[in-house]
Amino acid sequence: MNEPVPVLIRETFWELPLAELNRQEWELLCDGCARCCLKKLEDEDSAKIQFTRVACRYLKQDSCTCKAYKTRHIKVPDCLVLDMNNLPGALHWIPETCAYKLRFLDKPLMHWHPLLTGDRTTMIVEGITVTGRILSEEHVHESGLEEHVIRWVKA
Ligand code: SF4
Repeated sequence: MNEPVPVLIRETFWELPLAELNRQEWELLCDGCARCCLKKLEDEDSAKIQFTRVACRYLKQDSCTCKAYKTRHIKVPDCLVLDMNNLPGALHWIPETCAYKLRFLDKPLMHWHPLLTGDRTTMIVEGITVTGRILSEEHVHESGLEEHVIRWVKA
């Protein structure tokens, strides 16, 4: 049986061009804010995106992790598994603080990103994670989403 080949996580890999990251580095780049797991509304005329405080039913609200991470695209067909091919077409709705969006645009990570600070404390203190500020879609009817539009997440 072949031994699994170890993959190198490069020092400060988050400063490299996004296209050069390996699979592990790509996964580690996510800040775990879960802002992308919030329901969005799109204005028909302007195409402007508004975020709501209503989250996907599979989001674990305390840890901002997905209960169905490996099968999320099957359980939720419109859940996008981000990669270099689909990222450009998703930039209009991805949160402005998202590490993938920032690096795609050749911008540095936000100062609170756990890769820079070493843990999630700063991003929690600064209110970047969605924990404690959201509702599960299980408790909100689709037709009532407009009542839950928020201003603290922008695309
Ligand atoms: S918005 Fe971006 S950085 Fe935040 S959880 Fe989603 S993919 Fe990760």
